[in-house]
Amino acid sequence: MEKYEHLGLVGEGSYGAVMKCRNKANGRIVAVKKFLESEDDKTVKKIATREIKLLKQLRHENLVNLLEVCKKKKRWYLVFEFVDHSMLDDLDLFPQGLEYQRVQKYLYQIIKGIEFCHNHNIIHRDIKPENILISRSGVVKLCDFGFARMLGAPGEVYTDYVATRWYRAPELLVGDIKYGKAVDIWAIGCLLIEMSMGQPLFPGDSDIDQLYHIVKCLGNLIPRHQELFYQNPLFASVKLPEVEEQESLENHCPKLSAVVIDMAKKCLQIDPDKRPFCDELLNHDFFNQDGFVESSQVCCPPEDLRSQQRPTCV
Ligand code: ADP
Ligand code: MG
Repeated sequence: MEKYEHLGLVGEGSYGAVMKCRNKANGRIVAVKKFLESEDDKTVKKIATREIKLLKQLRHENLVNLLEVCKKKKRWYLVFEFVDHSMLDDLDLFPQGLEYQRVQKYLYQIIKGIEFCHNHNIIHRDIKPENILISRSGVVKLCDFGFARMLGAPGEVYTDYVATRWYRAPELLVGDIKYGKAVDIWAIGCLLIEMSMGQPLFPGDSDIDQLYHIVKCLGNLIPRHQELFYQNPLFASVKLPEVEEQESLENHCPKLSAVVIDMAKKCLQIDPDKRPFCDELLNHDFFNQDGFVESSQVCCPPEDLRSQQRPTCV
């Protein structure tokens, strides 16, 4: 790691920190993700090795590019191409929401990145504004594959899951251990509304409050999820939120156009089996407004193309 000059901290999470650095030899600016010591901490070890394993398989223009992996003094270091800012920064700049064309442009690339993961049987599981990086030329790069995982054989269950509450699908909130790619589609729906309005759609302050936000706007959970809720010891003696009259997404977001609401509603189906796949979303009318598809074929500027090299493992 001596070959990098430290320029500043760009992010800090529970499992480590991300620093902006310069490669002293060639001047290239990179982001170095430094994990906490992993020898004694099983969770850090698991998150780091999972992220490395998945990122080595996943090369796509809408996923962050891993350049190098190092292990030094019990710590893992991942070196990435540096990407200018995150969607959280854009949301801070535009508290009333981003302009329609920008939402189209970002969402299209987010779905393209997720489609690529899903086609490789990988679910990201932590899609949220902080994990969506945006280059100066507007190219979206999804990052943070620490919670991503491979889908197993049908019927295989996944238990080791903790991700950001506001973007969590109802099946995750009730503790369904058989969830799938549809959890990422739910998060896309939450993001679409947040980008369009400037405010998070369901800002729950506890898991039960999160469910309450969802049910109030989108209606009652499906029977299977209701049963799982009552079997879940975390919710012992808690009553499942139910509504007789739901508020509806259009009333919740009165300023949004019908096509945005339609796209969001498709992603935010309470029943995960009813949520569309990425290819269906890419063909939605939302992307046919204002000549979007014709005019915005995303082309990589040289700085983004340059990064498509394989990582070196040290
Ligand atoms: P964590 O597991 O701590 O959330 P992330 O991989 O999401 O780790 O990185 C944390 C933050 O660091 C991101 O939200 C983003 O602001 C910044 N970051 C991560 N990767 C890059 C990168 N390649 N270029 C620029 N900033 C990055
Ligand atoms: Mg993150």
